[in-house]
Amino acid sequence: MGGKSLLTAMLCFSCSLSSWSLAQESTAQYLANEGLMVTQGEASILFDPLFRETYGQYLLMPDAMQAALFAGDPPFEDVDAVFISHHHGDHFSPEDILNLLKAQTSIHLYAPTQAVVAMRAIAAADDSTVFDRVSAVSLEYMDTPISMEMEGLFIEAVRIPHSGWPTGRTDIENISWRVTLSEGSDTTVLHMGDADPNDVHFARDEEFWNRTQVDMAFPPYWFFDSRSGPQILTERIGASRNVGIHVPVNIPSDPVRRTPSLRSADLFTQPGEMRTISP
Ligand SMILES: [Zn+2]
Repeated sequence: MGGKSLLTAMLCFSCSLSSWSLAQESTAQYLANEGLMVTQGEASILFDPLFRETYGQYLLMPDAMQAALFAGDPPFEDVDAVFISHHHGDHFSPEDILNLLKAQTSIHLYAPTQAVVAMRAIAAADDSTVFDRVSAVSLEYMDTPISMEMEGLFIEAVRIPHSGWPTGRTDIENISWRVTLSEGSDTTVLHMGDADPNDVHFARDEEFWNRTQVDMAFPPYWFFDSRSGPQILTERIGASRNVGIHVPVNIPSDPVRRTPSLRSADLFTQPGEMRTISP
């Protein structure tokens, strides 16, 4: 074998090795409440990362983790985009998200219009360039899902009513985000926000839910112990795996100590916990 062909063989070997290893590096890391980070290779996205309300029953992100996020320190050195599910105090702090976008000038934000309006209300005049990286999503209940793209990400948004429908919180723009990261191979995740577990919200968009295989879905924990939630997860969404979020502190990490309906559920309960998404 000549020097050139040996070199080519070595390059091809390392090339397939690197795409193989990238395909292995798809993970979800828990922050707190519904906050989490999905990473694939050098691409990372965050859902509902910064909020200040616990309402006496949800966890906040640990201070050291929050400091690392604002500083762009590991594991937050490659954050491409942040997604907000809805404008409630246990999911979204307008001040903190505005400050994050000012501190980390490559991060893009995707959020319901209600959240973006709240950020604009507190922004100073010289913050206006921050909003060049902000995409406000305006969706009414029963609107057709929409899609957007940015480098390495295919983003889909559907409005699913907040839990409490049809009598409570119907004014809240709750967005479920289905996002595909495309670095090496595709990884698709679904963050549902505080989605209401009624099949009527999902049945109407059957084509949307069937179009894409979700590798990992993050339903609020009440999807595991409500009447229709489990069926929505298996028959409508059909993700390869589900990891529950928005878990109150009084639900134990140890499945054996939970109520029977939650014993078989995989739940994020401790900040920093990881799950491997890609097989
Ligand atoms: Zn909420």
